[in-house]
Amino acid sequence: MGSEIPQLHIFFFPFMAHGHMIPLVDMSKLFGTRGIKISIITTPANAPLLSNTIQRSNDLGIEMDLKIINFPVEAGLPEGCENFDTVTNGGTKRGMFVIFLKATTMLQDPLEQLLRECKPDCLVADMFFPWATDAAAKFGIPRLVFHGTGFFSLCTTACMKMYEPQKQVSSDSEPFVVPGVPGDIKLTRNQLPDMMKSNEENGFTKMLKDSEESELKCFGVVVNSFYELEPTYADYYRNVLGRKAWHVGPVSLCNGNLKDKASRGKQASIDENECLKWLNSKKPNSVVYICFGSIANFNSDQLMELAMGLEASGQDFIWVVRRDKKDENGNEEDWLPEGFEKRMEGKGLIIRGWAPQVLIVEHESVGGMVTHCGWNSILEGVAAGVPMVTWPVAAEQFYNEKLVTHVLKIGVSVGVQQWVILVGDFVKRDAIEKAVKEVMVGDKAEEMRSRVKAVGEMARRAVEKEGSSHFDLNVLIDELRLSHNLTKQTS
Ligand code: UDP
Repeated sequence: MGSEIPQLHIFFFPFMAHGHMIPLVDMSKLFGTRGIKISIITTPANAPLLSNTIQRSNDLGIEMDLKIINFPVEAGLPEGCENFDTVTNGGTKRGMFVIFLKATTMLQDPLEQLLRECKPDCLVADMFFPWATDAAAKFGIPRLVFHGTGFFSLCTTACMKMYEPQKQVSSDSEPFVVPGVPGDIKLTRNQLPDMMKSNEENGFTKMLKDSEESELKCFGVVVNSFYELEPTYADYYRNVLGRKAWHVGPVSLCNGNLKDKASRGKQASIDENECLKWLNSKKPNSVVYICFGSIANFNSDQLMELAMGLEASGQDFIWVVRRDKKDENGNEEDWLPEGFEKRMEGKGLIIRGWAPQVLIVEHESVGGMVTHCGWNSILEGVAAGVPMVTWPVAAEQFYNEKLVTHVLKIGVSVGVQQWVILVGDFVKRDAIEKAVKEVMVGDKAEEMRSRVKAVGEMARRAVEKEGSSHFDLNVLIDELRLSHNLTKQTS
């Protein structure tokens, strides 16, 4: 580093859920490759999830370390329950979700202690930590927000909030157009979170309100997306909604080697070489990959229905199920049709637990994916050029579905009607069979595949030198350096 350009030190503080930790850690690596010193903040039970990534980044010459702060025991959660994964595994535990969110607010003091000790130049913190803006302000450093979603859903969320079109329809199933946001986006009240159907205030709605306010006061928003994917919405977010934002994704593309791709988030439940061997034995575009992210947790009836839909579709598949062979009470699994695995031998692979998702979707034999429309999964599918069956469950996933099916036309909807946290709305086997066939075989599948392959190419170019995301990251780093210099001059 030349003496005239001081090295910046940035703190990254992801919300403790895989869908937030994985992309923010990838993003921190991107900053690290530009000579910036990186510290990732997390709690003791989450530290082992990150230590290998940090070691591999250090081996590549990236200056990165982990700062550990204790998860508040006074929050009343079971010991070691420090990640959304443990909160949501094993069924709907809504009470725990609220306690978990409340517990994270107690992390402000230990964060401030760290800021005092280490004096970093910037804090990139998750939208679930609205108090991080004030914490950063106390130490005179900029705070960037990370939402974990793309421009389209950020714009839709903002317009829904501004215009409240759901209040103008007379039934939960009557479609309405979201005013403001371009593209004639239609939704129903059924597809919205419960909190948007009532005026009830609770801990979660308060956190969202605080998050919005803190975003308006912070340095800006760093987005895991690329301009070419959603140019209208990137422009709308910045120029019409007036938000300061930089797009630096798809961040998953920073994982160049097999180990990095195979071990994002958690240790995979299948050896990566075994998985590749299975995929290598298949023809190009012949396998459908089915996964619902790290939070959704379907009940046994839905898994059984999915198994039957898949079998009827006749397609080869890899199916990721968040279940062990035995349930928590030691009972054998009750969610597979009689003799299913025997019949599917060689044709279908069930991964119980955690899959090396990026490694799988990037394989040439994967010709389609069934996704819950978590933003990371969509972006990973897009970057790999894979058309999608959209099966949203909760969060902002119904918005993301519209981007895939209506705007980009790179997927088909399985037809979910209702937002239901964790367990999802029930989808029948015929709908599953039809949607899987539609995305895998026939003219429509080919059209969607060639469209998404073209967008995937754009994704790769975006992160290369001179690409749009590469460029925006440079702009952001320049602005942070400027802010750093101004602070130093005035202090
Ligand atoms: N993921 C994975 N293996 C799994 C399940 C999920 O690697 O078995 C990764 C996936 O690649 C993505 C993240 O976990 O990066 C899930 O994020 P997403 O936004 O898709 O969904 P969420 O888990 O937040 O609902």
